[in-house]
Parts: sequence; structure tokens; C-alpha cells
Amino acid sequence: MNIILFGPPGAGKGTQAALLQEKYSLPHLSTGDIFRDAIKNETLVGLKAKSFIDNGELVPDEVVVEIVAEALEDVKYQSGCIFDGFPRTVYQSESLDSILVNKGQTPCKVIALTVPEDELVRRVLSRGQGRTDDTKEGIKNRLSVYHNETTPVLEHYNDKGMAEVINGTGTIEEIFDRITSALS
Ligand code: AMP
Repeated sequence: MNIILFGPPGAGKGTQAALLQEKYSLPHLSTGDIFRDAIKNETLVGLKAKSFIDNGELVPDEVVVEIVAEALEDVKYQSGCIFDGFPRTVYQSESLDSILVNKGQTPCKVIALTVPEDELVRRVLSRGQGRTDDTKEGIKNRLSVYHNETTPVLEHYNDKGMAEVINGTGTIEEIFDRITSALS
């Protein structure tokens, strides 16, 4: 099974991915985590991604699709995974569709978390993970990128009848229960 956790920065994708990983014994694939590791390890991908991430912009599609395609070669993803922060553009979602078809895997279920914007800003500024992009300016840019470039991804999956919109407010457990009901 492949699950896409979709939503703006601060929607709780990482938190819910960790819980879903445990419940469904599926690995978690976060493109943001892959980029942060690459930056820490000063790899070529890290060098390519750093300025985009620091400015709250999207890393170019070719770079993102390449790292995801490469990551998915790992046997640990052979029964599917939980995508967190990917796909973020229609191009990425179309690329993912064909990667999965080529792997003979089942289509994804898309869980779209919705949270009011003031709550998103509050969550991001208070999460204290030391991320260079978790600043007032950073979150403003990332939200506008989300609205302009990422929300069309939801339409892409809605058209295919794969998306479930979930209220992302409340306690972590309440949100988790809503997600698991939608998945069952
Ligand atoms: P995240 O941890 O998912 O919030 O991602 C942090 C940053 O990494 C984003 O603001 C983007 O700059 C970059 N990034 C992560 N995933 C993607 C993606 N699928 N497409 C483009 N850029 C991405």
C-alpha cells in the first residue's frame, strides 16, 4: 500500500507519518528529510537543494523525482510506503504515477490534512526543530508556494478519486483516528 500524506507546512504530516509507519509497518519517505540529510552530509544533491530550501522555494522537479526514484529502488519500499512532502507539483505526481506503475504497485491513497493558516504558522514557529526554514519569512514563502504550486496536486488525485480530505486540527490521536478510518 502506498499512502501520500498531503498538506501545507505545519499540517502534521511528519507526526502522522511516524504513527502510520508503526500501524501499517510501512516505511516513511520524506523528501524534506532526504534533503536535510544531504545538506548535512554536503552531497551534490544537498548542494543543489540548499538555496531553494533556505528561501522556502521548491527544489526543482528533476532533482526531486531523481532522488525519489532512486530511494524507491531500495527493497524496503517493495510493499509500498508513506510519502511525506512528495509529490508537491503536478509534474511530480505524474512522475510518481508512472514510477509506481513500472514497479507494479497499487495506486496511492492520498490523505489531505487541512488546518487553518494561523494555526499552521503557530505550529511551525513553535516546533523548535532548529530548521533554517522555520522562520516567519520562511513559513510565509512556503505557504504561498504551497497554494500556488502544490494545491493542484490535490485536484490531480481528486480527479482519480484517490483523495480523502481530513480535518488536521485536534489532538494527534484524534487526527490519527480520522486518518485510519479513512484508510480502512
Ligand atoms: P518539508 O520537510 O517537507 O517541509 O520540506 C522542506 C523543504 O524541502 C521544502 O520547503 C522544499 O524546499 C524542499 N522539498 C521537500 N520536498 C520537496 C518536493 N517534493 N519538491 C520540491 N521541494 C521539496
